[in-house]
Amino acid sequence: MASRRRIAACLALFSACIVAGNSASTRAAVLYDENFTGLPSSTLNGQAPDVDNNGGLNAWTAHTNYTADGNMTPVTGGTGAFLPFIPTAGNIYTLSASLKSVTGNTNWVAIGFAEGIPANTATTAGNDYRFLSGAGVGKAWMLFRGLSNSATTKNQTQRGDASTGTFPANQLDWTGPEMYGGDIDLKIVLDTTAAYNVTFFAKRPDDPSYTQVSSSNLPLTATDIASVGFATSAAANLIDAKITKFTLETSGQVFILGDVDGNGAVNALDFNIIRDNLFTSVTTRSLGDLNSDGVVNFGDFRIWKGAASAEVLAEVGAFPVPEPATCGLAAVAGLGLIALRRRSVQSA
Ligand code: CA
Ligand code: CA
Repeated sequence: MASRRRIAACLALFSACIVAGNSASTRAAVLYDENFTGLPSSTLNGQAPDVDNNGGLNAWTAHTNYTADGNMTPVTGGTGAFLPFIPTAGNIYTLSASLKSVTGNTNWVAIGFAEGIPANTATTAGNDYRFLSGAGVGKAWMLFRGLSNSATTKNQTQRGDASTGTFPANQLDWTGPEMYGGDIDLKIVLDTTAAYNVTFFAKRPDDPSYTQVSSSNLPLTATDIASVGFATSAAANLIDAKITKFTLETSGQVFILGDVDGNGAVNALDFNIIRDNLFTSVTTRSLGDLNSDGVVNFGDFRIWKGAASAEVLAEVGAFPVPEPATCGLAAVAGLGLIALRRRSVQSA
């Protein structure tokens, strides 16, 4: 009975928070920001970016020759580094990166929006890992070379199709003044407010502003984007560089860790969604699936709990929110069962 009373008390407090928690904080526009301040002895692969407002649970998938300090020592054939990202129609996404000391020949470094994250990225080299083919096809990407020695080795912007990142008609030389090697800042603006289109920019670090290096609003050939990343085209003796910044910004919604509804706060509103969908299969984060495994369960609750402030936890429960089998989780389970019963009654 004591346990039931505690659960009832929890319920009352949770309900109170439906009102009390209804205050959104200011939204950040940054989805990802990485400054490569890790150790040169650590690989980038598996590291969380410095800022992850794309759900808060993401990590780099990168070739192990890329280190956490941003040093790229690519192996022959091409290597890459990727973060998960699926654009939502109606937004403008800005991907930018700073690269230092690009040296070598006509081989290149690149950034872009790609189809996905290829298997074995950490250990394998090849075209799939440099925006050219397979699961890593670049849908909107740009390359910067160590130097140019002919009309066919200029810096380029690219918009791939389903199978190739170098769709011939969309393989365009940069416009404007030529620049090769050294330090460079690259920027790609993906506009999904109507048909998906893209505009490319570059500048030297000391330049006060970016130079547009393509026509405006070039249409994408394919829009199935599920990653952002950077890549190098060949072996270290042919191209070498260090990346010092990689940032993805959005005009739209961001999702901090534990935030179900995308209002920028982790509070009882998010808990309520998890509770209402507990033990159900869902297809979107906005229904409570914080870890994107297709189901709402205690795993999602724990993520919410881990991200909620002490103030929110105290407000929600007035007790230490514990691990399974004690009040907090029992309360969640109870709430879930109540929700399930309510649904079954409604559907009867
Ligand atoms: Ca929220
Ligand atoms: Ca889940």
